[in-house]
Amino acid sequence: MKSLQDSLSLLKGIGAKTQSALNHLGLFTVADLLTYYPFRFDDLASKPLAQIADGQKAVIKGIVATDPVLVRFGRSKNRLNFKLLVEHDVLGVTFFGQAYLQNKINKGAQIAVYGKFDAVRQSLTGMKLFSGTKLQEQGMAGIYRASKEIKANTIQKLVKEALREYGDLIEDIVPEETRAKFKLLPRQAMIQMMHFPQNLAEYQTAKRSAIFDEFFCYEAKLTLLKKVNKHDQGLVLKYNNEKVKDFIKTLPFELTAAQKRVVNEICHDLHQPVHMNRLLQGDVGSGKTVVAAIVMYAAITAGYQAALMAPTEILAAQHYQKLKALLAPMQVKVGLLTGSQTAKDKQKSLADLAQGKIDLVVGTHALIQDGVAFSNLGLAVIDEQHRFGVGQRKALRAKGANPDILAMTATPIPRTLAITTYGEMDVSIINELPLGRKQVKTLWVKPHEVTQALEFIGYQLKQGSQAYVISPLIEESEAVDLQNAVAVYEKLQQYYPTAVRVGLLHGRMKNDEKDAVMQDFKAQKYDILVSTTVIEVGVDVPNASVMLILDADRFGLAQLHQLRGRVGRGEKQSYCILSADPKADYGKERMQTMVETNDGFVIAQKDLELRGPGEVLGDKQSGMPAFKVGDPVENFNILQAACLEARAIILAPNFFEQPQNAGLIKFLRAEVVEKDELD
Ligand code: ADP
Ligand code: MG
Repeated sequence: MKSLQDSLSLLKGIGAKTQSALNHLGLFTVADLLTYYPFRFDDLASKPLAQIADGQKAVIKGIVATDPVLVRFGRSKNRLNFKLLVEHDVLGVTFFGQAYLQNKINKGAQIAVYGKFDAVRQSLTGMKLFSGTKLQEQGMAGIYRASKEIKANTIQKLVKEALREYGDLIEDIVPEETRAKFKLLPRQAMIQMMHFPQNLAEYQTAKRSAIFDEFFCYEAKLTLLKKVNKHDQGLVLKYNNEKVKDFIKTLPFELTAAQKRVVNEICHDLHQPVHMNRLLQGDVGSGKTVVAAIVMYAAITAGYQAALMAPTEILAAQHYQKLKALLAPMQVKVGLLTGSQTAKDKQKSLADLAQGKIDLVVGTHALIQDGVAFSNLGLAVIDEQHRFGVGQRKALRAKGANPDILAMTATPIPRTLAITTYGEMDVSIINELPLGRKQVKTLWVKPHEVTQALEFIGYQLKQGSQAYVISPLIEESEAVDLQNAVAVYEKLQQYYPTAVRVGLLHGRMKNDEKDAVMQDFKAQKYDILVSTTVIEVGVDVPNASVMLILDADRFGLAQLHQLRGRVGRGEKQSYCILSADPKADYGKERMQTMVETNDGFVIAQKDLELRGPGEVLGDKQSGMPAFKVGDPVENFNILQAACLEARAIILAPNFFEQPQNAGLIKFLRAEVVEKDELD
């Protein structure tokens, strides 16, 4: 029996060579080919003059009224002039540098010309000529992404063939009610028109449907997975609420309302028999660490171990110190596990962890190594989770019997990407900073004004502050990076009087060296710390109130925001000075954005608009789905509508019984889960 899942080799006209060429384009089944849409259309349908605006490009059909005259000018230039009768109007047509067209344009013949229309002069600058049999090629011409092995035209022919042989098998997935509500085409018509629309309007309708269809299917899958996962037996962490409250009372500050809210959301999950998979988003300095401390303590009062994994040694060490101090009044045993520990220390940590002598372990990637065993891990927290790959998050989860997972990120994820990338997670958001926190003032200076910036830093140092100077980032070359940092370091030592102590931190240092420098900076043994981006994440030195970022335009917006988050952590007014001289408008806009806003969500959205999702998320986020037609940024409104609709349908209690969901259920069965999991 024929099926859309048939191999392309079953299609007429596809031999081994063509099949392999298609495979290389990622096309294996008939269904793949049918949804391999043209990436562009040339609108070659001719239009009446009245519908064409001045300066617009269009195809105009008419009868050649005068024989073409070839005019040569300049050294080797030429143009071809003739008159074209279009209904009752006469247009002057000119082709530049296409003398060879002369004998294809004959008085009295019907032709069509694609060109730019000048309404004032009633003239047309020709770009493409359709004459003789070529006249039939007009219309919406789809252009397919092709390769050296296969031509776009061949692909088009095969699509036609696939539609002819398999078109009837295309079934609807989006339920009829939804299609009616959003004025969407049935799937068969949609696919047909995505390839061979009659005109632009038809294509636009089809594309809207296709985008909706794609987002809808995506979200339907995720929602169903979540629904199935909810039956996934998770741990029930019966924490001691009184003890948790007592711990909160020992904190040196009052929690913000947002912190309280997210603590409640997480604690609620801990208590439920479902497996928690939650993302905690909060801007730099919003106080995620203390939230993690509270919920990890909750897990510990329930008799479980907790783990916190951080992406760098510096950060792990800092969390270790902080958590140990915070949790000391509660008699929690906090341990550390990192790659740079001595073998002896590591052995001790490993043994204590396995025997349950450590309640809370803080660590780096060392936590997910093979030799690491917990006695009963109940909650795993991943700090700066965007620094970890999907595999590493899974590895940590595998260290316990399905422990609850809390992933934290200071990179605010725009709404768009939150839906698409973290769709399988529940999200908690800390949307306010602790009270009294002063906004960091950001200034943008040109490189020749850096001396003034250094003077300003000198003045701040006299007030007892400390400063960061971030040296330019040279992509993909740690060696050049280092050279730069060293050069900056030396210049600053020359510039400031010897009383100003300058430290240096870079990626080539061993981890314990980095830690030592950071500790010294924190202990105010340095006034200025010159650093490459290794300080980017999470480092907390409240006395540092100025940051100068050199060649700031070499950084991504999200990264600049992260860097800036290193200052503004104390009582003092803090400053971030960006030195850059971007040439492009786009670069200027980026700097301007940094000056104008401190809101990480706004910055992330801007970054996304300026650079696109791949750049923003980096390759570590292998979870980012690739959409064929829909663009989650550009088509955000459709994305949102399709997601809401898919969720509502799937989560309805009688989802599986509704006859109108039959197509969707069939699709989900094939795509998502084994049949028995659904029933
Ligand atoms: P991030 O969310 O960037 O990880 P941190 O957890 O490092 O932020 O917190 C930043 C600073 O704010 C820390 O010094 C922390 O002690 C402090 N802090 C956290 N919560 C509060 C609060 N509710 N009130 C005052 N200070 C707080
Ligand atoms: Mg943090």
